Amino acid sequence: MALRFFNTYSRKIEEFEPRDPAARAISMYTCGPTVYSRAHIGNFRAYIFEDLLQRHLELRGYQVHRVMNITDVDDKTIRGAREAKVPLAKFTEQFKEAFVEDSEILRIKPADEFPAATDRRYIDRMIEMIGELIERGLAYQADDKSVYFRINKFPDYGRLAHFDLTQLQSTGRVKHDEYDKEHIGDFALWKAWDEEDGDVKWESPWGPGRPGWHIECSAMSMALLGDQIDIHCGGVDNIFPHHEAEIAQSEGVTGKKFVRYWLHCAHLLVDGQKMSKSLGNFYTVPDVLAKGYTGRELRYALLRVHYRVPLNFTWEGMKEARESLGRIDEWLARLDEVAKQENAQRPTPNAQRPTAAFEEALDDDLNISAALGFLFESIRQTNRAMDQNQMDAATAGAWLNWWGRVNTVLGFPHQFVLVGETGRFTVGGGNAHMIHVPAEVAEFAKERENARREKNWERSDELRDKISALGWEVRDTKNGQKLTPRDAS
Ligand code: AMP
Ligand code: ZN
Repeated sequence: MALRFFNTYSRKIEEFEPRDPAARAISMYTCGPTVYSRAHIGNFRAYIFEDLLQRHLELRGYQVHRVMNITDVDDKTIRGAREAKVPLAKFTEQFKEAFVEDSEILRIKPADEFPAATDRRYIDRMIEMIGELIERGLAYQADDKSVYFRINKFPDYGRLAHFDLTQLQSTGRVKHDEYDKEHIGDFALWKAWDEEDGDVKWESPWGPGRPGWHIECSAMSMALLGDQIDIHCGGVDNIFPHHEAEIAQSEGVTGKKFVRYWLHCAHLLVDGQKMSKSLGNFYTVPDVLAKGYTGRELRYALLRVHYRVPLNFTWEGMKEARESLGRIDEWLARLDEVAKQENAQRPTPNAQRPTAAFEEALDDDLNISAALGFLFESIRQTNRAMDQNQMDAATAGAWLNWWGRVNTVLGFPHQFVLVGETGRFTVGGGNAHMIHVPAEVAEFAKERENARREKNWERSDELRDKISALGWEVRDTKNGQKLTPRDAS
C-alpha cells in the first residue's frame, strides 16, 4: 500500500504524491519555536512527530529537505528582552541554544535550515511580499500605520480551518487596537513601531516597524523551498489563524497552491488540558531529566501515541516508557547472544521471521501505535521461541537487522554493553552502534562480575559507584551487567 496521510486541508486520508515523484525529493516546512523561553515538552511532542514523519519518509526512500523557522521577534520576545534589560538578540540567543540542546537530547534530527525571522535576508523578503500584496489589493495600511491582510479579498480564507467568516464577524470581540481594521479578522502583516518596541524596528515603505508572525513563515518557506512545498506541519493550534494566514499570504502573492499536504499533531495534555506556557502546567526537558528520566525515555513517551490523538503526560507514562525500552533492550541483548552462538543451532524453519508490518503501519498515516504493537508482539513471540530453543542464529540475526532498520525511524540509541559471566563483552543493539568502553570502566565491570559471583554485594555496590563516577550506568540483567554511557541514553 502506498504512503498516505490525513490532510487537514481536505480532512481526508490522501495518498501521498509529492510535487515531483520522479525526483524522490520532498520539501517540508515545520513551524519552529518562539524563543522567549525554553520550549516545553508539549512543543517537543510536535517536533518529535515531525521527526518521525521525516525519518519514515527517508526510510521509504525520499530525500527530505526540511526547514524549521525560529521566531525570534514578536510581542513576547520583545517584552522578555525589555524586562531582562538586554538587547533582543541577546535575550533570544539563550533559548535558541536551549532548543538545540533539548532537541539533541531527544534525538530529533536537525532541520537542514533554521532561518531566523530577524535575519536581514528574510526581513527584506517579507517587506517585498507585503508590497506585492498591497499592489494586488490584498493588503492595506490602516490609520495606526500597521499593514493588514484584507481577508474579504481572499475567497479561500477559512478553508484550512473549515471556518465560517460570517461567524467571525458576529462573535468576534473588537479589541481597542483593532478599531483601525476593515474586518475584525484582518491580520497584521507589518506592525508599526511603538514605544514598547524600544530599538526593535526595521525601516519599510510603511514606516518603521516589524513583521507579523504569519508573514515570517510565508517568506521563509518561499525563500528556501520555493512557491510550493510538499508538506507543512505544526500543532493543531497552528491551524488558525497561523497556517490559514500563511496560505492567504503565499497564494496571494504567487497565485499557486502553497502546500500539498497539511499535517497537524494533537496536543500534549496535562490533566486533560493543553500543556502550555500560559497555563503554567508545563515541564521542560531538563525538568524531566531532573526526575531521573533519560532523553531516550522521554522521546519514547512522546512518540508512542498516534500523532492525531491527544496524549496525556503523566509520570506513570514515563515509567511505562522506561519499562518498554527495558524490554526492547533485553530482547536485543538476547538476540545478540543467540546470533553470536558459535555452534549455530540447527535451523528452525518455523521461527517467526520479521515482516513488513511495522513499516506498513507507518505508511498508514504514521500509525505508530500499531507499529509498536507489532514490535511488542514480535518481542513476545521471539522471546518465547528463544525460551524454547527454537531460534537459530540466522533468524536472530535477521531480527537484529530488522531492528537496525526500524530503529532508524524510532531513533532510540541502544548503546549498551553487556559484561557476561565469562567477562565477555557484547555490544547491544546490533552492530549499528558500536561504542568504545574505556579501559577503566571495563576493568571495574570485570571486577564487579567477580565480586558478584562471590556474592560480595558490598564490593559490587562500591564498584557500581566507581563506574557511575566515570559516567556509566550499570544494570544487572539475567544476561549479565548492562553498561550504558549516561550521555547516550
Ligand atoms: P510555539 O513556540 O508556541 O510557536 O509552538 C511551537 C510548536 O509547538 C507549534 O507547532 C505548536 O503547535 C506546538 N505546540 C504548542 N503547545 C503544544 C502542546 N501542548 N502539544 C503539542 N504541540 C504543541
Ligand atoms: Zn509558522
